[in-house]
Amino acid sequence: MSLYLFDEFVKKAKPHAAFMDEHPPGTPAPYAGIYRCKDCNFEIGIAKGHILPSDHHHGRVSAVRWILVVEARHVA
Ligand SMILES: [Zn+2]
Repeated sequence: MSLYLFDEFVKKAKPHAAFMDEHPPGTPAPYAGIYRCKDCNFEIGIAKGHILPSDHHHGRVSAVRWILVVEARHVA
């Protein structure tokens, strides 16, 4: 579960594919932000284009699918 303190730094997103799509391990993160493993709820922070981690964090064999929880977006 991601936590935050200051309301002014986060905003509820409108439904968007960025938050609906599932991303397999070993693929580039399409957005910078916080991702969550749908299988075990493990969360990571990752930069755009960096490779989403493998399923080793499970300690068991299962299908990891990452979903975007919070997008880190620069707004000028
Ligand atoms: Zn997991």
